[in-house]
Amino acid sequence: MLTGEKNLELLAEPRNIVITTHHKPDGDALGSSLGIYHWLKAKGHRVEVVLSSDFPSFLDWLPGREEVIIYPEAPAKAKDLFQQADIIFCLDYSALSRTNILEPIIRDTKAQKWMIDHHLEPESFSDLSLWDSKAAATAQLVYTFISQLCQDRSSITPEIATNLYTGIMTDTGSFRFRSTSSEVHRIIADLIDAGADNCSIHEQVFNSSTESRLKFLGYSLLNRLEVIPEYNTAFFSLTKEDLIKFNVTTGDTEGLVNYALSIKGIRLAALFVDRTELIKLSLRSTGDIPCNKICREHFNGGGHLNASGGSSHESLDNTVALFKSILPQYREILTK
Ligand code: 5GP
Ligand code: MN
Repeated sequence: MLTGEKNLELLAEPRNIVITTHHKPDGDALGSSLGIYHWLKAKGHRVEVVLSSDFPSFLDWLPGREEVIIYPEAPAKAKDLFQQADIIFCLDYSALSRTNILEPIIRDTKAQKWMIDHHLEPESFSDLSLWDSKAAATAQLVYTFISQLCQDRSSITPEIATNLYTGIMTDTGSFRFRSTSSEVHRIIADLIDAGADNCSIHEQVFNSSTESRLKFLGYSLLNRLEVIPEYNTAFFSLTKEDLIKFNVTTGDTEGLVNYALSIKGIRLAALFVDRTELIKLSLRSTGDIPCNKICREHFNGGGHLNASGGSSHESLDNTVALFKSILPQYREILTK
């Protein structure tokens, strides 16, 4: 769905643009941001990517990542950029609260907000929005934005293609989730033609673990995985001490929840991480089990049908207990 299309005219002149995405960006969030960053820069705009937090080390090679401004490291400079901005791109989120510390700053600016996103139930804060909950990734929509809305496929450089490929690859679980349509494969083929080195991208994202990350995975599988067979549910719960022991940094828990879902018969998988200030929850499901509804109703979050997240200010034990206590409500759908 496209709204506010007429505002695209603004891009005819050089503008001050700030690109934002959600807190703790994943491959799609950072890949979309850096993909459109390179394109806007090449069109002559003054562009910055401002993040509310750092990003995972497995993305610390994406073309342009060294230009990113991390708000807590340069708050005055970042605030100034928001104040001067004509346009703020809001990528891979459709609720401003997902930008964490940036939310009040984005709300306060006079800049136009242009949202490109694929999450369910978008808030209405944008002056232009390209939104499709069926899109496999925001990076797919950025490709659409450049190649169709702006009719500028020929400007997709290897840097742009690499970032967009990474976004689509990570958000589709390497092209295996249901969202991976033939259209996605066609776009991916075109990104390879535009210079994305698919083999090298997979190598950099998936074969870049540290020894301690791998040992942390082994430890979590052995000691922190609990299966509830009567509800076809499995989950991990990680304590603060676990994170310290294995020197866990941003991105190290990425993908862990999928191991719980990979057990035969498991239809709902969760990961609880004690991040000290709050408990962060990741939920994954198969079929029509609504992770987003569960997160929205019980864990102050949301997301997609089969992949959602949320948080809790209770203790880790209490959060896990709450999760277990709500499973009976979903008995029918979990066991059918
Ligand atoms: P992850 O579990 O990988 O952190 O997030 C999976 C998906 O859940 C994300 O793509 C995002 O859509 C959603 N999500 C994660 N955390 C939150 C949250 O705190 N609030 C909302 N509304 N969605 C979230
Ligand atoms: Mn995404």
